[in-house]
Amino acid sequence: MPPTALPTASRLPPPCRDEIHRVQALLAGLRAAGGLDWSRVIDSARPWVQAVRDQPAPFWAMESLLREYPISSAEGLALMRLAEALLRVPDAETAIALTADQLGRADFDGAADGSPHQLLAKLSSSAIGLAKRLLPEAGGGQPGQPGLLDRLGAQTVVAATVRAIQLLGKQFVLGRHIAEALGEARSARKASAQLRFSFDMLGEGARTMADAQRYLASYSQAIGAIASATSGADPVTRDGISIKLSALHPRYEESQLDRVLAELLPVVCGLIDQAAAANINLTIDAEESDRLELSLIVFDALAAHVQAAHPQWAGFGLAIQAYQTRAREMIDAVAAIARQRGLRLMVRLVKGAYWDGEVKRAQELGLAGYPVFTHKHHTDISYLACAQALLGHGELIVAQFATHNAGTIAAILAMAQDSSARFELQRLHGMGEAVYREVLAARPDIGLRIYAPVGEHRDLLAYLVRRLLENGANSSFVHQLADAGVTPEALLHSPLLAAQHPGQPAPAALFGNGRRNSAGLDLAVPEQRAPLLAAAANAAVPVVAEASVAGVAATMAALHAAWPAWTATPVAQRAAVLRAAAELLEQRTTHFSGLLVREAGKTLGDGVAEVREAVDFCRYYAQQAQERLQPIALPGPTGESNELRLHGRGVFVAISPWNFPLAIFAGQVAAALVAGNCVAAKPAEQTPGVAQAFVELLFEAGLPRSVLALQHGPGETVGAALVAHPATAGVCFTGSTQVAKHIQRALAASDGPIVPLIAETGGLNAMIVDSSALPEQVIDAVVQSAFRSAGQRCSALRLLCVHEGIAEPVIAMLRGALAELRLGEAGDYATDVGPVIDAPAQAHLSQHVARLQASATLIARSPLPSQHAATHIAPVAFEIDSITALREEVFGPVLHVLRWRGEVDALVAQINALGYGLTLGVQTRIDSRALRIAANARVGNVYVNRNMIGAVVGVQPFGGEGLSGTGPKAGGPHYLYRFCAEQTLTINTAAAGGNAALLASAGLGD
Ligand SMILES: Cc1cc2nc3c(=O)[nH]c(=O)nc-3n(C[C@H](O)[C@H](O)[C@H](O)COP(=O)(O)OP(=O)(O)OC[C@H]3O[C@@H](n4cnc5c(N)ncnc54)[C@H](O)[C@@H]3O)c2cc1C
Repeated sequence: MPPTALPTASRLPPPCRDEIHRVQALLAGLRAAGGLDWSRVIDSARPWVQAVRDQPAPFWAMESLLREYPISSAEGLALMRLAEALLRVPDAETAIALTADQLGRADFDGAADGSPHQLLAKLSSSAIGLAKRLLPEAGGGQPGQPGLLDRLGAQTVVAATVRAIQLLGKQFVLGRHIAEALGEARSARKASAQLRFSFDMLGEGARTMADAQRYLASYSQAIGAIASATSGADPVTRDGISIKLSALHPRYEESQLDRVLAELLPVVCGLIDQAAAANINLTIDAEESDRLELSLIVFDALAAHVQAAHPQWAGFGLAIQAYQTRAREMIDAVAAIARQRGLRLMVRLVKGAYWDGEVKRAQELGLAGYPVFTHKHHTDISYLACAQALLGHGELIVAQFATHNAGTIAAILAMAQDSSARFELQRLHGMGEAVYREVLAARPDIGLRIYAPVGEHRDLLAYLVRRLLENGANSSFVHQLADAGVTPEALLHSPLLAAQHPGQPAPAALFGNGRRNSAGLDLAVPEQRAPLLAAAANAAVPVVAEASVAGVAATMAALHAAWPAWTATPVAQRAAVLRAAAELLEQRTTHFSGLLVREAGKTLGDGVAEVREAVDFCRYYAQQAQERLQPIALPGPTGESNELRLHGRGVFVAISPWNFPLAIFAGQVAAALVAGNCVAAKPAEQTPGVAQAFVELLFEAGLPRSVLALQHGPGETVGAALVAHPATAGVCFTGSTQVAKHIQRALAASDGPIVPLIAETGGLNAMIVDSSALPEQVIDAVVQSAFRSAGQRCSALRLLCVHEGIAEPVIAMLRGALAELRLGEAGDYATDVGPVIDAPAQAHLSQHVARLQASATLIARSPLPSQHAATHIAPVAFEIDSITALREEVFGPVLHVLRWRGEVDALVAQINALGYGLTLGVQTRIDSRALRIAANARVGNVYVNRNMIGAVVGVQPFGGEGLSGTGPKAGGPHYLYRFCAEQTLTINTAAAGGNAALLASAGLGD
């Protein structure tokens, strides 16, 4: 594979800009284009709203469903979660457990008596009632799920719920396959001739090449079928297709740009050739904001193909999301492509379907702001500004306005009145039918295209849930239209006013006023990525002199001498040093990330994440120290004051590992220092440079040089001498269980004071996957947890336990996902898995893999380019038949997979019996099961339905039990106490002759 051809500059402005300014600029643009008379908009839309409300939607319509079971309620949530999972569960036991779990937590009748049995009975009747209304002859055979009813037997509630959800889903899917969907489209057109369709083949994004090939085949077949069925003069009047690029390639990501260009482009060009030959519209759906620049690059390249091969075809298009802050500029960029290439394009304008995910991603990455607007009406403003711009580009672009909002539709029709631009309206199948019935009655001249999902039940689920979520949101137009309590005026009120503040706290403010969230980098933005790439290529790792065993005594003596003054330093002053260090470190994120890449072989993303963790540790322990290390006044008899005080213990020895040479090093040192200890810090032999750079930064931040000494050297000599020194008042260690035991024994053998040990060690971490889990989500979590950072995290997944009911598809997907992982240089943006830490580790892991090859069944191994054969370990998965095959932690990208059946509690007991207790992943849709597993598991960190790495300071305090460590958890509220000694101070305040305070207060009452 050639080196990644990365753009060095964005085509669009930065994604996170000041929202209020951005919206004001959009409003100014609308005003400059003549403005919008909103009272006219209301006049047009009010009769539509009234008519829709006068003729209520059928009971199965989204509007009716939301009225009965709003998503914000427990019942709506239960229904939505059942809809998402129940139909795909293969075994009866899990189906019953899932249904009981979800329905059991909701009260469909509003009863408050709390009896689970009574509730379930009521819920059952409600579910059955819903099923009966959907299908009056409920009770017969079950389409699409043969045999399930029989297997469930008396569990009528489960059967009824399954049927209810199946039928609900049908309202949003036009057909199970393209032929059925085309038939439905034909029938619909009999009633309304101006209808056109854009067919969408349902499914999750591809995780494997096999997935991508399946989607390609179904798109290609669909285009063929549409081509022979559709009529009309041009793409605007003919049916068309919508495609998702993430379905056509498992790595549709900016970091894999070379593969996207080399592998995805030809595939899409093939579909384009088919669509152009059929003269139909092919639209590329809009996905997440971190793919926006990428989509523009790809779209431009595809437009070049259209220009060369089909210059007359006017059916090529893409969707643009108005909720993105860059939407308006995106439209001009697409128009520029059309102009430059002499093409006529089609652009579907939507508001955007992934708002919640975008907000979460920005918070998790600590971005400078949000790439999407944070007020609903700002999205509406952007939509109108984009619509205005699209109409303005009428000679280049046919606009396709996709919305169910009557106010937005009326505003667009008002704007379009003075424009000669060609446009159409669009809605989703199963939504907005009533509004469009009224709109088309008023404007029969306007074309309406229906976005029509096609697919089997299994593929429908994620789509259905997205629609339920989107429409269940209080701010959604469909939701408010269904609520008779919202007056037409409120429903249609003008969005055309910028809010004063963003609607979400900035990602930096996630943790409230006490502590700023660390700032991250968005690697999808070339301007943020470029300095990082340069730092990774050029950072000079400090050379650190080794400490000698002979010198340890003098170092410890000096630290011991400095301790009284340091522990007497006010906590606020010690905390201020950490805060200053956090600021400096954050300013130097790029530099320190570069050091981590060069010295520890971290990938770019891992490097940035680690710097952020170190920043968070400094801020968190500063805050904790000020909140928790203050004297506490204690109650007692009169004439006496009692106070509990905390102070440093003396000299702490901090011994940290190479896998987090900055974050763990900084966390240990910062905690010990802020608690009032002096520190002898011994970094791992492999990574002293990063540690040295951080120590220098602490001194720059104001830490007295006398209170911290870096002692680089071998653990067996320098580390052992530090631990054994009589001045050592505590040891904080992160590393292997074996070395922790060694330290424990050494401390126990010493004759001096009893020295506390804080040990964070390894784990044999498992993930339990039951048959209600979604395989795609499982694979995402597994790949990140087991193979990211080359598996060199103590939290990494080592043992994947998959329920036998879904083991085959999960293992097949894992095989495909392993084939997609890319090994490479740590500093290459395209690299998923970098080198392991050193040659001994590489040799040890290679031996383990060789052993497994003889004793277990190989599932798959990622490709290992020959130039990395000596430095890397290719991620690999083996199936084992017993948990007992696992004995010790293997610190690399080696995953063991086990199929399980029967009771999950027995599996948890076996995992507990391994003796380790660090992290556990759980993948299930049965909430009560997840909670039970967590309660029974003897582990420190449980992660449900997500990956199990990347604990965030103060959010997921980290650390285990048993063979995995002593606690308290790093980054948690109890950590600092272990670095302190406690003292009570009792003063007899009546010693000087009597209790003046008591007498004075008693006197007051006389
Ligand atoms: C034909 C068609 C095709 C579509 N294709 C795509 C696609 O390719 N990609 C895609 O992402 N979506 C797509 N969608 C989905 C579309 O984004 C949503 O259906 C649409 O946003 C709902 O908008 P509305 O105007 O109907 O409803 P409204 O109720 O007027 O708008 C709801 C929208 O506002 C936004 N919003 C909600 N709360 C906030 C907030 N606090 N701050 C800022 N914004 C907020 C959300 O985007 C939400 O979807 C498509 C929709 C249609 C009709």
